[in-house]
Amino acid sequence: MNRNFKIALIATGVIFTPVLFSPLPRFKAPLSTVVEALDGTLLGARIADDGQWRFPALDQIPEKFEKVLLTFEDKYFYYHPGINPVSIVRAMASNLKAHEIVSGGSTITMQVSRISRGDRPRTYIEKFVEILGALKLELFSSKKKILKMYSANAPFGGNTVGLEAAAWRYIGKSPADLTWAEAASLAVLPNSPALVFPGRNQEILKSRRNDLLYKLYKRNYLDSLTLVLALDESLPGEPRQLPSIAPHLTDFFYMNTRGERIRTTIEPGLQEKATEIINNHQRELAANFIFNCACLIISVNSGEVLAYVGNSSDKDASEHGGDVDIIRSLRSTGSILKPILYAGMQQTGDILPNTLIADIPTRFPGFSPKNFDQSYSGAVTAGSALSQSLNIPAVKMLQKYDPEKFLELLHKAGFTTFNKSADYYGLSIILGGGETSLWELTGVYASLSRVLRRYNNENRYLPGDFHPPVLIHYDDTLNDIVEEKEPPLSASSIWLTYEALQKVNRPESEAGWQYFASSPNIAWKTGTSFGFRDAWAVGTTPEYVIGVWAGNADGEGRPGLTGISAAAPILFDLANIMESNSWFSQPAEEMTMIRVCSKSGFRAGPDCLETEEIAACVNGLRSEVCPYHKIIHLDKSQTHQVTTACTSPSGIVNKTWFVP
Ligand SMILES: [Zn+2]
Repeated sequence: MNRNFKIALIATGVIFTPVLFSPLPRFKAPLSTVVEALDGTLLGARIADDGQWRFPALDQIPEKFEKVLLTFEDKYFYYHPGINPVSIVRAMASNLKAHEIVSGGSTITMQVSRISRGDRPRTYIEKFVEILGALKLELFSSKKKILKMYSANAPFGGNTVGLEAAAWRYIGKSPADLTWAEAASLAVLPNSPALVFPGRNQEILKSRRNDLLYKLYKRNYLDSLTLVLALDESLPGEPRQLPSIAPHLTDFFYMNTRGERIRTTIEPGLQEKATEIINNHQRELAANFIFNCACLIISVNSGEVLAYVGNSSDKDASEHGGDVDIIRSLRSTGSILKPILYAGMQQTGDILPNTLIADIPTRFPGFSPKNFDQSYSGAVTAGSALSQSLNIPAVKMLQKYDPEKFLELLHKAGFTTFNKSADYYGLSIILGGGETSLWELTGVYASLSRVLRRYNNENRYLPGDFHPPVLIHYDDTLNDIVEEKEPPLSASSIWLTYEALQKVNRPESEAGWQYFASSPNIAWKTGTSFGFRDAWAVGTTPEYVIGVWAGNADGEGRPGLTGISAAAPILFDLANIMESNSWFSQPAEEMTMIRVCSKSGFRAGPDCLETEEIAACVNGLRSEVCPYHKIIHLDKSQTHQVTTACTSPSGIVNKTWFVP
């Protein structure tokens, strides 16, 4: 072997062996939880477990900041192998002169290496380890990655770590939106973080920033006019509060995926408008000692959550459980499940839309329900029993459908909160005997609308259209949650239910009638729980589902706290900002025409006098024949009912009669 080659090999080994055996600089410190909207807007953040504002690393360092940073810290960053021998020699000379380490001669890579080792005293040995770390970093990481590590972990004074946290805390902006002057004042901080605090050495900060701005000007990054304007900008002030656009959602991720950056599906503009509507209504409701409201808005098509207002953020609310995330809280459902039962019974053919149901005082095993307005209408059609939310017909319907089957339907529809047995709930489940969350409720209605919308658009079902709300944006969300099964409710049963829910047919005693007049096309239902503890409203268009809850987080009931008076007005204010004007169409291919008795709404029997054709689910063909129209035997004067036992056949008149 050639002697020179051997020397070269040994020299390489001497340099590289320690580099290879030195640890690769890493950062293990806990991170802040950062929650972003779909477009990247910061919705909120929570401090890291060690009390530092340290955001997870950015995907990309904004170009402006990179130029500013490299001009200030490390002009040859892209050309050196992690260390810059010229500046190291220069630094050593000045350190020797001063008999202590005053200058590090550090490249950005060396600074990353140093920061990763925590706060250690500046010794020559430490400096050597830092250099090894820097060389190793350069071997194993790209320049861009090293820059990201620096930007994420550099100290910016106080408990602010990293560029992004600093930009929000000191300037109130995303790093991408910084001006030259703002970027420059942040870039000089990691070198002397103590400078930033207001009133402390502001002049030094200003002169360093301005020196840097001149350098940027000399490098032609900015023109003379921009320079003049930049020099005139004010300095960063006292640390500010971070944005708090969706505090309950931020808390949710803080509890569940702490220390991560989450890109949600939230539309920030809608989130802010929805928050304002919730707060405005809550201020009014506070006069009646109702302190909490929440709403959830979901896109029908994607299932993505567009707005998540977990509670009012008004002052009154913050003193009364405003930090409780109502969207995830379990509350009594009131009447809000009645449409699911109605749809289930249309699908099985247990009822037809106009089937008459008795609405008279009735005792059921274990309880005697009353209608909301304490009155009874004698008999009503199933559809108007639903749109008027009558309780006795609902319980009768559940009795016919079977509580166990209904519980199964709720589970298939996506409710996980009804986890007791059918015996436990009994018939009262249809009047609020069970609990669910706004999250599940709104999600189930969104699934129903999705199934109908799909059928309207494509005349088919797609497996996986029934799924919970989606909060995190993926490009192929649906692929992740496909379940190979038919929807638990058909498009036609959902259509018939929504038709009933669109009807303007509510007792005037339930205030809020004015909302019907101006309402956009929307199928909606309210619910009020026993003891006026929970007011619900859920409404759907082909585009959106809106779920609303009002009440007190501590469960205290209030007279007048009803779905119609407290939740529906919020629902309609939200519906008005959604601007959805379309409506579902009838899934005609899936439906069948059925001849029904005009008077009873049941399938027409031979004795029914007037009949008509209606569109219904196919199973409606198997539904019960009109039990009310019967042939009765009368005497010649048609005033007495008779039988062949007392009158001769010639003296009998046969007549069809409606026998309730
Ligand atoms: Zn009939």
